[in-house]
Amino acid sequence: MRFCRVRSVAEAVDELSRWGTEGRILAGGTDVMPQYLRGEQSPAVLIDISGIDGLGGISDVGGVTSIGALVTMRRLATASLIALRHPALSQAAAAVGAWQTQTVATLGGNICTAAATADTLPALLIADAQLTLVSKSGRRRIGLEDFLAGSGATALRPTELLRAVELEPLGERSSEGYLKVARRSAMDLAVVGLALRLDVAPSGVIDGVRIAMCGGDQSAHRVSAAESALLGTRLSDDPGAFGEVGAVLADAVGSAALPEAQYRRRVLPGLFDRLARRCAGEIAGAGA
Ligand SMILES: Cc1cc2nc3c(=O)[nH]c(=O)nc-3n(C[C@H](O)[C@H](O)[C@H](O)COP(=O)(O)OP(=O)(O)OC[C@H]3O[C@@H](n4cnc5c(N)ncnc54)[C@H](O)[C@@H]3O)c2cc1C
Repeated sequence: MRFCRVRSVAEAVDELSRWGTEGRILAGGTDVMPQYLRGEQSPAVLIDISGIDGLGGISDVGGVTSIGALVTMRRLATASLIALRHPALSQAAAAVGAWQTQTVATLGGNICTAAATADTLPALLIADAQLTLVSKSGRRRIGLEDFLAGSGATALRPTELLRAVELEPLGERSSEGYLKVARRSAMDLAVVGLALRLDVAPSGVIDGVRIAMCGGDQSAHRVSAAESALLGTRLSDDPGAFGEVGAVLADAVGSAALPEAQYRRRVLPGLFDRLARRCAGEIAGAGA
């Protein structure tokens, strides 16, 4: 296998175009290297993008948050702009593996691996993530929902590089968060993970709901039936409303998640209840 270290996006897309399906991008390597060592992947060329300047930034671009593909989980978990605008992403990044993994694992790698249980994906979905992909023939933008195409499958072409992710920040009367259930309470992949964003009108009516889950099907996805069940209810209403939404979420677990689908269905209502109460409490505490 050849190893090729690139120093710019232009060099990276040149190499991708040269090698096509024989090339594979290496970012933090926390997915690529274990897959290689297990014999699951053996690309002819590894294209190491970890030294590219300009893919590791977090910035505000006209009110939208832009995150470079090489930003690590550790950085996401500790950056104040992310904690303020995207707490669910901050919490999801902090839930990825252990500290050692978080210091090298990148957001771009988590997105492009597209594991059914990838922690950052629900948090990105509730922020309506838009991806910028670049290749020798130019750039294109695609929503994360359209990018994900099943477990380990995406709309990324072999000649494309994920450059950045743009996110819609949390509003003023809003709260969001991420929680996961895993076999162990630390350093483990999610059995199921949930991200929730709530917007509340001055009247106390919930006028915006975004719910996304990972581990419930082949890909992380928004759960529109659960969103509809919560939309229009009052924040102070009977907490039974959360139970109804939890049941809708449990119903949304696809058969693809078998053999643990039953378990996922059982834990989802409780997980949602905890998350929804936390978000509701934050909004009430902020005087919304
Ligand atoms: C011990 C351990 C624990 C883990 N725990 C968790 C966990 O709890 N939750 C979780 O979600 N994940 C977990 N993971 C998985 C992993 O850390 C993440 O998926 C990580 O974010 C991948 O990023 P990376 O930079 O290491 O990607 P790499 O391994 O370098 O690449 C991953 C894939 O993405 C492609 N790629 C990377 N960057 C780009 C780009 N910019 N453009 C196009 N393609 C690109 C690569 O070609 C490859 O196919 C764990 C991994 C390990 C080893």
